[in-house]
Amino acid sequence: MELLSNINSHRTILHCDCNGYYASVECLMRPELCYLPMAVTGNPENRHGIILAKNQLAKEAGVITAETISEAKRKCPHLVCVSPQHDLYQEYSIKINNIYREYTERVEPFGIDESFLDMTALWQNYAASPAQFADLLRKRIRENIGLTISVGVSFNKILAKLGSDLKKPDATTVISPKDLAAKVWPLDITNLLYVGKVTAERLRVININTIGDLAKTDPDFLVSYLGKIGENLSLYARGLENSEVQKYSELDEAKSIGNGMTFSEDLTDWTKIKEGLSGLVDEVVTRLIRSRKLCNVIQVQLKSSDFQVYSRQTTLSQHIQKREQVWTIVWQLINELWDETTPIRLLAVTVSGLENQGEVYTQMSLADISSSGKKTVVGGNKKAKDSKKQDQIKNLIFKLNQQMGGNYLKLGRNKEL
Ligand SMILES: [Mg+2]
Repeated sequence: MELLSNINSHRTILHCDCNGYYASVECLMRPELCYLPMAVTGNPENRHGIILAKNQLAKEAGVITAETISEAKRKCPHLVCVSPQHDLYQEYSIKINNIYREYTERVEPFGIDESFLDMTALWQNYAASPAQFADLLRKRIRENIGLTISVGVSFNKILAKLGSDLKKPDATTVISPKDLAAKVWPLDITNLLYVGKVTAERLRVININTIGDLAKTDPDFLVSYLGKIGENLSLYARGLENSEVQKYSELDEAKSIGNGMTFSEDLTDWTKIKEGLSGLVDEVVTRLIRSRKLCNVIQVQLKSSDFQVYSRQTTLSQHIQKREQVWTIVWQLINELWDETTPIRLLAVTVSGLENQGEVYTQMSLADISSSGKKTVVGGNKKAKDSKKQDQIKNLIFKLNQQMGGNYLKLGRNKEL
């Protein structure tokens, strides 16, 4: 078939994905949890806490990620909820990547529990076929770490990623060039990386429902209809994505640390928003501490139920790392950002302006207190137009609170912390 003629099929790319990562690590630490339906949640004490991950038993009971504990418990009354231990998840992530690195230097993490491996001309050293190598790797992770992974094997990253999603837990899926039409094209478009809900809806309107439909559509039309992403999606669907797997040792040092979450139900009250943001801040701060960094730019982003994106960020005049400090700013930003009526679909927290711990002078002087931090508004709604003066006051309050080691001063409008 002409459509398949340009495929560059000589590479062997693996995508390895840990199954139910957070919950599996928890079960590893406390084996008794393996036999109970359990979930890792924002705050187990609070019924508004959100499900971050669940084990197989909870999944079978209908528990889904990002719903609230009370929703989950309605379906699964005996659900055991535990708090996340992000340090531990990072630690295991490094251990797992170190095993991958024994086989190839091209290991590129894609999130905390997923990595791409380039095994081109290397798998022959270990196995009779790429699939057999993937099986060997699964066995290694199972025996050495105690976790299961699903592996997709293909000739590019996009299809390897798609493959690892097709069969789990603890499975290998191979997608060769000749499999593309039979195995991939009948799948729904949402199986393709970067086809989100909005793009999928737009494609369905014009009767593009499967990856095959996408592959057979004129790429120029897709660009005119979807913009730049249309070109990429067309390449992905035709098996023409060709990007390299980065070398682990050459991975760019993180320029920012962020975490976002899409909620199963739109958030419309402060309790749920606080709960959602609190979990995000926990993870971001843990990663900040783990990477021995401090940050001075903090951004909060929200996506409304009609997919409008609003964001607000603050640049501080000094670098911070403590959870209370980051939380204070995040809470301030969401108070400025949210109009208390727009239903929220997604929340994200990102910190940047990263500096190595120990290289930043954190002791404040009186002169520093009187100089104000710079605030930048990126997008934002009517509330994002606070006067500069108010910004200065907020910054001053933040700094004074920091010096006093507590949250003594507040602006009237802010919600209670
Ligand atoms: Mg996973």
